[in-house]
Amino acid sequence: MHARLILVTPLLAALCACPPAAPPPNAPEENWQSDLLRTDLAVDLSDPDALRATATLLLDNSGQPAASFDVRGLDIDAVVLPSPDLRWELEDGRLDVALPRDVGPVSVEVTYGFAVGERFEGFMDTGATLTWPYWCGNLFPCRPHPSDGARFGVTVSGAAEGLVTISTADSVTDAPAYQLAWATGPYVRTELGVSVGGTAIAHHAPAEDLQNANAGTADLVAIFSWLEQTLGPYPFGPEAGAVQVDWGAGAFGGMEHHPVWHVSRSAMGDATVHAHEAAHGWFGDGVRLRCWEDFVLSEGTATYLAARAQQVVVGATRGDAVWAGYDDELRLMTSVGLSNRDRVVWPAGCGDIDVLEDGLFGRIVYIKGAWFFRQVADAVGAEALDAALGAFTRDAVGSDALMAGLLDRIRTETGFDPEPLAQQWLRTEGVPAGWDDR
Ligand SMILES: [Zn+2]
Repeated sequence: MHARLILVTPLLAALCACPPAAPPPNAPEENWQSDLLRTDLAVDLSDPDALRATATLLLDNSGQPAASFDVRGLDIDAVVLPSPDLRWELEDGRLDVALPRDVGPVSVEVTYGFAVGERFEGFMDTGATLTWPYWCGNLFPCRPHPSDGARFGVTVSGAAEGLVTISTADSVTDAPAYQLAWATGPYVRTELGVSVGGTAIAHHAPAEDLQNANAGTADLVAIFSWLEQTLGPYPFGPEAGAVQVDWGAGAFGGMEHHPVWHVSRSAMGDATVHAHEAAHGWFGDGVRLRCWEDFVLSEGTATYLAARAQQVVVGATRGDAVWAGYDDELRLMTSVGLSNRDRVVWPAGCGDIDVLEDGLFGRIVYIKGAWFFRQVADAVGAEALDAALGAFTRDAVGSDALMAGLLDRIRTETGFDPEPLAQQWLRTEGVPAGWDDR
């Protein structure tokens, strides 16, 4: 059989000027251009040894012949396409589905199993999920690039007796895939109040940790209100807040799973962590990163705004304390001999780096980013910078943006060119001499 094919193929090639082989109609091919509008997940946790979910993926079929999704860690059972003559296939952890030729929204349903993954790479055995930066394919069929936005709905059933699952609710604004999450635990919901923008703020923590959670969120309604007034209406619905998660020993921090951001047990009492995660509702979630190189557009702003919001809302003593903490971190990180010192926190280019492998993910991006914005505030006045940040987010929320776009907006809003400070703080290793002579 093989010998016969080898003989025939060169003969055909010699006899005709054949056009390049087109894929057969309705065959799937790799395609990341088709626009994913919405992902609805129905997750069933009832059998811990056989975790299951169905994803309903709504696509805007405006001429693209196929759509691709990252499914690297999923065990796909079934894929239901809009028409029975369409096909799908799996290749290298990718699901390719053929789309019908007619124009309009089309729905693809994927039923699959998933498993407990490595810590911070999907579903964790402590009950929380985390897929930042690009591990969403371990949890649901997804588009992992941060510029790709879609709306989400998540329902989770089957939590063990006495436990509650808090998930990202129906999102009303396009969001990056890493925003989607859930957490299961013995949660008690505590209402904290309603913000000036009408957002109901709450936290979810186990009963024995309520005191700590209350301490960390004592000023949260006021901080959230200031963010709404400064940056525009909250993009992710009528409710927001925090849920305490178990990230295991040694992990301190939070993750911007709006409208209910996750905070590790060790950080739940820390007001700055809550303010930082709240600010991501606008920077990082509401306004998505066009490129991983622009990571500072999310983390530098959130770190700056966490200090700025507390300075305005709680007072100068709190603001100074937050900055003193940042300064200590920066001094430590940039000590001679430490590798952080050699980090450029806003690398040039777009799409050229792997945010983990190339070492961009690091605390120095947060702190040098915050310091850059502080220098701009010192030059133009903090209120003028607030207004420029708000002008930017009001326009860009629900879409992706570049750090360069924010710098342009600061220039047009304030008349001050932030580029030299950006070169000094973001595009140069180390820290400018004399930065802490205060
Ligand atoms: Zn952050």
